[in-house]
Amino acid sequence: MRFYSTNNSQVTVSAEQALFHSMPADKGLYMPTPLPYLGVTFFQNIASESLADIGFALSQALFGDEIGKADLEDITHNAFSFDTPVVELEPGKLSVLELFHGPSLAFKDVGARYMAALMSYYSKRKDKEVNILVATSGDTGGAVAMGFHNVPGVRVSILYPSGRVSDLQEKQLTTLGGNVQAFEVDGSFDDCQAIVKQAFMDDELNANLSLSSANSINIFRLIPQGFYYVSAYGQVKKYNRPIVFSTPSGNFGNLSAGVMVQQMGLPVDHFVAATNLNYVVPSYIKTGIYSPQSSVATISNAMDVGSPSNFIRLAHLYGDNYDRFKNNISGYFYDDEETRAGMKHFFNMYNYVSCPHTAIGMMGLEAYIRDTKRDVVGIALATAHPSKFKSLVEEVLERPVDVPERLAVLADLSKRSIRIPAQYEVFKESFLHTVL
Ligand SMILES: *Cc1c(COP(=O)(O)O)cnc(C)c1O
Repeated sequence: MRFYSTNNSQVTVSAEQALFHSMPADKGLYMPTPLPYLGVTFFQNIASESLADIGFALSQALFGDEIGKADLEDITHNAFSFDTPVVELEPGKLSVLELFHGPSLAFKDVGARYMAALMSYYSKRKDKEVNILVATSGDTGGAVAMGFHNVPGVRVSILYPSGRVSDLQEKQLTTLGGNVQAFEVDGSFDDCQAIVKQAFMDDELNANLSLSSANSINIFRLIPQGFYYVSAYGQVKKYNRPIVFSTPSGNFGNLSAGVMVQQMGLPVDHFVAATNLNYVVPSYIKTGIYSPQSSVATISNAMDVGSPSNFIRLAHLYGDNYDRFKNNISGYFYDDEETRAGMKHFFNMYNYVSCPHTAIGMMGLEAYIRDTKRDVVGIALATAHPSKFKSLVEEVLERPVDVPERLAVLADLSKRSIRIPAQYEVFKESFLHTVL
């Protein structure tokens, strides 16, 4: 499989290039070409519901020409040491697909771990260690740090804004050690991102080191997210009714992954794009006009994106045709008050504790079923474990929230970071110290 840029479909690159370079030089986004149509029977015949087995079957279909079977089996089984269960709230009608059973307790583990395993595979054949640089405002950094931890041939440097991530998020970044180094920057997330960008443009650094990014626009974070839609399908296909997925969305990677696998033949009837007040996509679906905004802060902060980077990918998947887009995706959005009410409603109704993002997905699904009166198998994607937003969830539900053991133990570990001012030269010197 090759990859084209959304800015120029004439030139294509290999999987390895798209993986290590993240973004084409023309600043477009990589998209797979051709996207293979595997057919409905391919998906019906996958007997397993485990993420690792499904990941292996699909990886073979996608990359079997480039990577051998045994290596693909290693890659997928190393990446997916956890599953994505469908939890039925109203059997055959309303379910949640829990994507938060990985190490950082959020669905971003799926993309980050697959990408890490692939980079490790390719870097074994390179003579230089690969250096990953990431700026994080919180959640992504944890998934990336844990995904790349102890991966041979790869070293990770994470920059985060001092005092602006939660305690547990900071612990996820700063307690791993080994090949993961955290830089605590006296500045904002934008300062961290500016330093990373400057490093990628620094000829001296690039001459000596193999630098790469693990940011969310990398197509290899997106492709594996299709695997859990397949796993969900396997868990509900017995109902033999149309399947509707509702995806709580910010940058729209998760939803793009679902549409991609639908176009490969997975029998998905319809999608719901559920957002907070950053509703540019629901509003595009309603009006046909796409107008990116600056982001609005909400309690579902992992979805506070005013100009979603994957919108262009979604548009490409529909051949830039608005009618095709809106016939396949319905949009719903909610403010913070509605989100809190939704979290309460799902707890009272089903005894289900949801994080604010997940509650938005569940509300979008309920609204779609109510509005269309269709008899469908509705599945909302649960994107983070509620304990990642402990104080908010406890305040809304007025009850304590259990923290899983693997997150709780972090509280007792001591943090190790290199604290630097938001100055590129200081970062560079200290970074070179750690890697040379
Ligand atoms: C990143 C994130 C989202 C948004 O996913 P996108 O792929 O950016 O649309 C939703 N919920 C949680 C918990 C997240 O961390």
